[in-house]
Order: sequence, then C-alpha cells, then structure tokens
Amino acid sequence: MSHLFTLYPWQQQTWQLLQQSRARQSLAHAFILSGVHGVGLFEFSQQVSAWLLCHQPSEQGACGACKSCQLWLAQSHPDYRLLEQITDEKTGKTSQVIKVDQVRQLVEFLNKSAQLNGYRVAIIHRAENLNVNAANSLLKTLEEAGANTVIMLITEQPLMLLPTIRSRCQQLSLAVPEKAQAQAWLQTQLKTSIDTELLLALSEGAPLAALALQDAPWFLARKALAQNMLDVMQKKHSALQISQQWHKQLKPEDVLNAIQLVLADVLLVKLNQNHAIKNSDLLPIISAIANISSITQILAQQQQCLNAYHLIAANIQTALLLDNLWLSFANKR
Ligand SMILES: [Zn+2]
Repeated sequence: MSHLFTLYPWQQQTWQLLQQSRARQSLAHAFILSGVHGVGLFEFSQQVSAWLLCHQPSEQGACGACKSCQLWLAQSHPDYRLLEQITDEKTGKTSQVIKVDQVRQLVEFLNKSAQLNGYRVAIIHRAENLNVNAANSLLKTLEEAGANTVIMLITEQPLMLLPTIRSRCQQLSLAVPEKAQAQAWLQTQLKTSIDTELLLALSEGAPLAALALQDAPWFLARKALAQNMLDVMQKKHSALQISQQWHKQLKPEDVLNAIQLVLADVLLVKLNQNHAIKNSDLLPIISAIANISSITQILAQQQQCLNAYHLIAANIQTALLLDNLWLSFANKR
C-alpha cells in the first residue's frame, strides 16, 4: 500500500460513511468535518482529497500510482485548492482570518471545469476563521456547487461557523477513540515508554495530541515546574528568580498551560477527587500543594492564569504577567 493512504484506526467509521455515499453516487458537495484537536482532521481531509481525485480509487483510498496521484504527491494537482489563513513571509505573522479575496479566488476556481476530468476538491482549513464577508461569499457556491465538486470545511469549533454555512453542509465528525484503542495505537508510536494513560488524560483523549506530547517542552518540564510551584509557596525559592528561569526555558503559554493543569489537579485533590486528576504521576507534589492552599486561593490563581492567557494573546508584557503569577504563589497567605 502506498504511503499516500494511511487512515488512523479511529477514522475508519467516518471513512466508511464517505465510501458508502460515493458508491451510492450520493456524495454531498459540501461538508463540515469537525472534531477535537488531535484526532487528525486535516490528515483525514488530505486522504479524502487524494481519494476523490484519484483515477482508480478503491475502498482503501487513492491508488498512489495514477497520473492524478502523482500530481497529488508532487503537491501540484491542478484540481485541488487549500484555503487557510495566510502567513506573511517577511514578518512570519499569520492572518487572524480567512479573507473575502481568498474565497473569491476559490469560487472562481470552482466555477471552471476540472483539468483532469475528475473531481475538483477544495479544503478550507480552520474554517471558523472565515470572516463574515468571506463566509457570505461562499454561501452561493456551497449551495450550487457543480457536479464532481467537493468542498470540505475543517474545524475544531463547528459552532463558530455561521448557521447559514452549517445548514448548507453535511456534517461529518471524527470522534475521539475508545481509551483501549487509543492506548494500543499510542504504544506502537511512542519513541520511549511513557504512561499512555497520562498522555491521553492530558490530551482530552485525542491520540495525535497525546503523541505530540512526548516532545512538548512543557510536558517534559511538568514535574520540575510543579515542584517549583510548591517551593515558591513554601518560600524555599524566590518567586522572581523562578519566574525568570522558566521565562527563559519555556514559552509563556506553555508555562501557563502547565501551571493551569497542576492547579486543576490541586483543586480536585482538595475536593477529595484524587482518582480524577490528570497528572497522576505528580500526586505527591500536588497533594503537598493542596495541603497548604485553600480552595479560594486556588480559584483565584486559576482566574489569574486565565487573565494572563488573554493578555499574552494580546501581546501584553509577558514577563511581568508571569512574575505576578509566581509572586501570588509566594504571597498567598
Ligand atoms: Zn490514483
């Protein structure tokens, strides 16, 4: 089998649905493909695209050998378009929205006939970022897409799409797999042995997100960071020193993310819900923090983390924000 086609085990059911629709010649022209982060929405859309474009498609997907598949593999298929937020090459900044001009170009492409006599496929990645004008420009095309045209909007937040868009598309979703299936798959993919239950707990059960954790700096720093939270609360270390040290090591979002996860678990321990904590390997540290914190303090710190998140997203002085957060751990009594 060509490397062109690898479906993840938990995507099979959704794949079967598309298979059956195509076999019955009742494939919709417009889809919304949704699911949580880490189930492989984009990867799935790519497999579907190659399979639609392929000249000898089978139940396994694209053949990997025909002219269409060769063009696909060379990333130069003339009947495929990917629409997503544009990243400025000079500044490296990514646009917050998908703009109306981009949609107009897509509509133009979809109004022409296919160059290879097969399907024309358009993928709109992170479709929740279509701005209102862009979304409105798409409506007519979603409704009247020509024969052999498939438009697939991918999103982790389907409710952010305009109702007028949603009502014109068939809904497809990729669900998070059963824990046993996710664990079995992870076992075959991990570079080293890491507790798969822990990885999945920290990833809302989404296997690809769980797999990515093995290389995530914040995941590797979790224990040291939790220990530092305890140290600062016990006044064994200076809050500012610890803050600056982490500021050098991790991105501010990652520090916040790790702290928030620890605080959520501290709260659970405080509420006698030890079995429900996510960082099960850190229970001793988390219990120690719970012992010297009140529920009110934990809630206040969580709120401070949330506020810091929003401010960091708005590019407010991150070092200062994190200093304040660490100081609050030291001064909580
Ligand atoms: Zn092919």
